[in-house]
Amino acid sequence: MSFKISTRKMTKSLKLKLLYTFTLISLLVSVNTIWTIFSLNDLSQSIDNIMQFNYNSIEAAQNMSIAIERQDSAQLAYMFNADSEPNEIFIENQQEFLKWFSRAEDNITEPNEDKIISEIISHYKLYLNQYNTLISIQVTEGSSASRGFYYSEILPTFENLKLELRNLQNINQNAMLDKKNKAHNNGTQASILIFASSFFTLILIALIGIYTTGRIVKPLHSLIENVKIISTGDYSKKLSIKGNDEITELSKEFNTMLEKLRHFESMNIRRIMEESKKSEAIVKSIEDPMIVTDKENNIILLNEAAQKLFSSDEVNSINKHFLEIIKRDDIFENIKNSMEKNIPSELIDIDIEFEGSNNHFRMYSNPIKNQTGNNIGVITLLQDITKLKEVDNLKSEFVSTVSHEFRTPLTSIIMGTDIMLNHVIGEINDDQEEMLKAIKEDGERLKILVNDLLDLSKIQSGKITYDMKPNNLYDIIKSSHHQFIKTAEMHSIKINTIVDEDIPKIYSDASKIQLVINNLLSNAIKYTPHDGSGIINIKAYTSKGNVYVSVDDNGPGIPYEYRSKIFDKFIQVPSVTQKREGSGLGLAICKEIILAHNGQIWLDEANKNGSKFIFSLKVED
Ligand code: ADP
Repeated sequence: MSFKISTRKMTKSLKLKLLYTFTLISLLVSVNTIWTIFSLNDLSQSIDNIMQFNYNSIEAAQNMSIAIERQDSAQLAYMFNADSEPNEIFIENQQEFLKWFSRAEDNITEPNEDKIISEIISHYKLYLNQYNTLISIQVTEGSSASRGFYYSEILPTFENLKLELRNLQNINQNAMLDKKNKAHNNGTQASILIFASSFFTLILIALIGIYTTGRIVKPLHSLIENVKIISTGDYSKKLSIKGNDEITELSKEFNTMLEKLRHFESMNIRRIMEESKKSEAIVKSIEDPMIVTDKENNIILLNEAAQKLFSSDEVNSINKHFLEIIKRDDIFENIKNSMEKNIPSELIDIDIEFEGSNNHFRMYSNPIKNQTGNNIGVITLLQDITKLKEVDNLKSEFVSTVSHEFRTPLTSIIMGTDIMLNHVIGEINDDQEEMLKAIKEDGERLKILVNDLLDLSKIQSGKITYDMKPNNLYDIIKSSHHQFIKTAEMHSIKINTIVDEDIPKIYSDASKIQLVINNLLSNAIKYTPHDGSGIINIKAYTSKGNVYVSVDDNGPGIPYEYRSKIFDKFIQVPSVTQKREGSGLGLAICKEIILAHNGQIWLDEANKNGSKFIFSLKVED
């Protein structure tokens, strides 16, 4: 299945949206910056202009003052020196005065300045007239009359003119001061305005940012929420399709995918149901009884064989506790154990009454694990071994009969060879002696085998009776130690026996327990080095209501591949049992005896150096 999303269109659209936003933001920032530059520029320009106007008027007033001063001096010089010609300096400065006056006249900026200007020109005109009058008085009446005219008429006009010129200067100076203060205030105002406009622009940009990201992210959020719901397996959800942007595009594609998933799921469910029907049919067709229980030990499946065996039908058994339907504590214990420890059980043989006869079953429980490895139940199989058991019994009986029949002739053979080897019935040559010795050795080995076979078949068939009573384990171990100490010494082996003297009494058949310890001890002696380095330890101790007896040695040990079957019949480790001294039945006999005592026997896997066999027996309360 493939999903196609038109990424080209989506990228383009996303790009556009972001482009619009950034263009808008850039525009806002640019407008704000341009406005700031303009307003600052404008402010400085207007200050310059205003200042320039006032400055021009002041300059004109100053220059007019200088010109009039010079005219006055020229006039005085004319009066006192009685020059015939009108003073040249006077004329020059008159032009200068009028030049600066016309500038001042063109530069009226302040209130009342026009009045001062007209006062100046009217005083100046008067001054000029008076000057002409002074010249004619000088010519006609003489210098003393002209001086009188000067002091009475011209000087007051001169003073008035000077006053007006000062007024012009003052009015412009004050105006400059005023404008400087105003410009300062305007500058502060402009700063505040620029700050406010920048702040407003920033807020606007932030709002645009929030709005735009909100518009992009909000639909994505709802998409994520819906995807989360869908990921839990709820394909019934559908994304709402609004608008015309890429999110809508994505939602459309998503809904198409959902549709396909729904279809796929329904196909899957159908397939799973078919598969489950198939598995159910397979399970039901298994001939051996099978029970499946869940974590709470409730039955979730009983195949037909199990229904028949326990006389119960599936409908009434499902979801009921195991013991409610099948009143077998031994099977339940096995299931519970497997469930709790999360490991497959051992194969355990049990008897079940079925259709009036005693049937034998081999029980096996195995935990069921889910995909994450957690235990979710237990499957228990009961393999009907009634027929196998019958054959085994027949075989055991046969072995037992044959062994029994072998015993007498074997004893005769061994006795006969003994007599011959002792030259009781005549001399024998060396070859005959060799042969007789070989016959005797084989005969004795056969006798051991026959005896072991007989013992085992008696134990397994239940023909053997156990003389159960409280026995002192300390005495049993001490007796074994005694029996084997000579043989051990013969092979330069050291035996250490460490037994707590106050070890509790064990309810057991002393001779059988003795047989077990003897078997373990004789094996240890057999397989431990005979070069003086051999050490055997026998230990007995109590722990948590059990008595433990262990026999360990520093021999070759049991190879890994033989460990799980070392207690089976006829198992011998070829590399160890080179001379085929034993029968391969000793450990099998030990196991049968210990199991008959409700105990356990095992090989200690943790022991790395040599072999260590341990058996445990329950201490009676
Ligand atoms: P067997 O009569 O052959 O000793 P057992 O059943 O007593 O029969 O032992 C089975 C085999 O286990 C032996 O043949 C031997 O290979 C191995 N075995 C038993 N005990 C020991 C031991 N202490 N050290 C090494 N191998 C041992």
